[in-house]
Amino acid sequence: MKKVDYIKSGQCLNVFGLKHPLFKVSASLNPYVGCIHGCLYCPFSGGEKIGVKTDYIHLLEKKLGEEKEKMHLALGSITEPYMEIEKELNLTHHTIEIVMKNEFPIQIFTKSDLILRDMDLLKEYSAKGLLAVSVSFTTFDSKLSQMLEPDVTPVDLRVKLLQELKNQDIFCGMVLSPIIPYVNDSKKSIEEIFDRAKKNGAEYVVPQVMAITNDNVRKKINDFVSKKYKKIEQEFNEAYKENTLPDAEYAKKINGILFELSEKYEMPLYLPTEEEEILNIDIRQEMLK
Ligand code: SF4
Repeated sequence: MKKVDYIKSGQCLNVFGLKHPLFKVSASLNPYVGCIHGCLYCPFSGGEKIGVKTDYIHLLEKKLGEEKEKMHLALGSITEPYMEIEKELNLTHHTIEIVMKNEFPIQIFTKSDLILRDMDLLKEYSAKGLLAVSVSFTTFDSKLSQMLEPDVTPVDLRVKLLQELKNQDIFCGMVLSPIIPYVNDSKKSIEEIFDRAKKNGAEYVVPQVMAITNDNVRKKINDFVSKKYKKIEQEFNEAYKENTLPDAEYAKKINGILFELSEKYEMPLYLPTEEEEILNIDIRQEMLK
């Protein structure tokens, strides 16, 4: 286990300026700071320590108890809420209990099957129509997955996780994230995601193209492309240049594939709610914060 840093953060809820158009969430909850998993593309990975917010539970109880507007919350938008340390500290578990007590709608983002530990809570809250669980997938190519995200729950176990959520009547879907231009974005590769989603109980597939948000991620991803995907290095670099997101031409191309597959598999590219269907998506959304 990595070293733990106990910190007083003074903050429990991050309210967004605008509701995220695809995930439909307006605020995020992250009980931990940093992530032990070393996903290559992730700006929050690979720190030496995990931060544990000692005042978080107390602040959250107070904040949600006082808050009048029932914002749609995202749990685990920055760091994995079901890291190993959660077995011991239960901060994610207590977060769900507090959210339930105050009846806020919530979407939980995870790559970990440790979430099954909280099945009783999830079943109860999903039955009220206030919960969605979004399980993240990058690729079903196990060799590529091993290179990109070596420490997380393997993809076959994440598929089993989706099946189990579905079997227990828990509303769930997939997050296809990140789409890395020319690496995991072939139509064949993306179609496999939709096909598995459909067959294993997902109600939606929300895609996110890779955002390169800092120099550290840029270096890691550039090294990876240069060593493992030399053939596409030029196209990759031309798509991003020095920007955070790939250019509009790339967005148009990938949007075409996503819309086609969304229609074919009858799988929305956003969290389905009572709100209007989304017809114009620029897939280059910034990551949730
Ligand atoms: S599990 Fe999630 S938060 Fe952790 S490194 Fe991977 S992508 Fe980042």
